[in-house]
Amino acid sequence: MLLLRTALIALATLSASAARAETADCSRNDALGTSRVLGVDATTWPRVGTKSYPQTLPLADKEVVLTFDDGPNPPTTRKILAALARECVRATFFQIGQSAAAHPDLVKAMAAAGHTLGHHSWSHPNLGKIPPAEALDNINRGIAADEAALHGKPSDTPGTPFFRFPYFETTPALEDDLQARGIVVFGADLWASDWNEMTPQQELNLATARLQSARKGIILFHDTKARTAAMMPDFLRYLRTNGFRVVHIVPRQPGKDTSASR
Ligand SMILES: [Zn+2]
Repeated sequence: MLLLRTALIALATLSASAARAETADCSRNDALGTSRVLGVDATTWPRVGTKSYPQTLPLADKEVVLTFDDGPNPPTTRKILAALARECVRATFFQIGQSAAAHPDLVKAMAAAGHTLGHHSWSHPNLGKIPPAEALDNINRGIAADEAALHGKPSDTPGTPFFRFPYFETTPALEDDLQARGIVVFGADLWASDWNEMTPQQELNLATARLQSARKGIILFHDTKARTAAMMPDFLRYLRTNGFRVVHIVPRQPGKDTSASR
């Protein structure tokens, strides 16, 4: 009995310190925060996002996954990282290889802040419209550059096997190739259309209106856009005041359940 009690106290102490570690870099108690971590693997979810595919991640009502494409781009990416840090929120960045190669320190800082770093090709071509061998080469060169920026040496095997096709343009053969390599293909469920000219306020209005109607999903932004960087603090505040919860996606080893509430 005493042993059990000691074990329970040890367990409680352990989980309390884990919770403290999780929020240690959080300066505010009323921050939005990351509500849970969802492990994702290509066996269970080879392709997700209702823009392009019939299935998406198993998100509950008012749960969102924040994703940012096309970076890193220091001036705007840093602003977005600051907004996320202020609200203690973790996101996923689908990086362009040549940008990662140009800014390895920023890539390392993003990983150190706990964000998930996915891949978005070497140079952002329309991979569905170029010869298949060229498309594969661009995908692999991007992965190798992202890995080199992060770890100092290139690798064909991505540490985070998450990929998003530029413009969502792909072919069944490319998708099959990635699935065979255990790489999850991410589409999106909603987006802020931040590639269009608009003010940060207009983007905020559009993103929140779409979220009100969709109620949940994988949201696509671009961390290269100044308007997105400008509206992100207000967007995160909107999520907090309207009861939305942020889910952080991470790679899951098939067969292992790493989904957990945090
Ligand atoms: Zn893109």
